[in-house]
Amino acid sequence: MRLDRFICKSTELTRAEAARVIHAGEVIVNDRVITDEAVQVHENNTIVLNGQRLKARSFRYIVMHKPPGTICSNVDEAYPSLFSCTDIDNASELHIAGRLDADTTGLVLITDDGRWSFDIISPNKRCEKVYRVGLRDAVTEDVALKFETGVQLQGEARLTLPARLDVIRPKEVLLTITEGKFHQVKRMFAAVGNRVVSLHREKIGEVSLDIDVGQWRYLTADEVTSFS
Ligand code: URA
Repeated sequence: MRLDRFICKSTELTRAEAARVIHAGEVIVNDRVITDEAVQVHENNTIVLNGQRLKARSFRYIVMHKPPGTICSNVDEAYPSLFSCTDIDNASELHIAGRLDADTTGLVLITDDGRWSFDIISPNKRCEKVYRVGLRDAVTEDVALKFETGVQLQGEARLTLPARLDVIRPKEVLLTITEGKFHQVKRMFAAVGNRVVSLHREKIGEVSLDIDVGQWRYLTADEVTSFS
């Protein structure tokens, strides 16, 4: 992995802070000062920052197919937690990168790496989330342009970021958004006079849902790094 990523994984430093200490000559890899943050390193290399040997913490990165009637929380509330229907060990250490409503199904990403989930959730990172949406009324022609331009959601200061609408059938669409405001998809369709009757997340970034409902798997190394 890249040296700056290794430093982020083994310390509390951000990517920018990691680059700064590397450029300042504070990082030694196998007895050589390295000032290029893009250099590839391996966990077996001896990597020292300010005299201290760093050890990469091992994080968990999981994709799960959320069943309906579960909540994206570590504890049961009005509905059971989605962790209650899995055999994931020590689930209390994990959090969900981008929650879904109880009645929404589909792809959730689960991790204990807060920096990684920040890149998925932050609207500044423009990470795409694709939803398959069932609608009460046939979608009208003007909606794609409205979503591309941004719509005003009740109680929000700014318009929604540009979103892409692909019509599959009059009452079934794919919506791609890059932010995750509370009930965003439902509120976007409410803002254009329609109503969401079913909602399923198919994809986040490069990760697509390829497992059955209720199942989970670890992400591949390529999937993990595709968000950074
Ligand atoms: N938008 C919603 O309205 N609900 C979800 O669960 C996800 C996105």
